[in-house]
Amino acid sequence: MLTCREMSELGSDIIEGDLRLSTRWAVFMHLKMCPRCTLYIKQLKLTSAVLQQLPLNTEAVDSAAILEKLQERDK
Ligand SMILES: [Zn+2]
Repeated sequence: MLTCREMSELGSDIIEGDLRLSTRWAVFMHLKMCPRCTLYIKQLKLTSAVLQQLPLNTEAVDSAAILEKLQERDK
């Protein structure tokens, strides 16, 4: 079973889906019983998605619109 510490170390790999099946399963099981890590991964996902969508011209960033888009996609 993974610990919360291992979960945070796996963070970016989890987001990128860069995990072996056995690890993915362990992560899945951990998330099922650990609301804290579920929240952590959720925030990481949101952050990385937002970062990928940032336009080069930072003045044009409309974070509310980006968040809206992300929520739309999750439906
Ligand atoms: Zn945890």
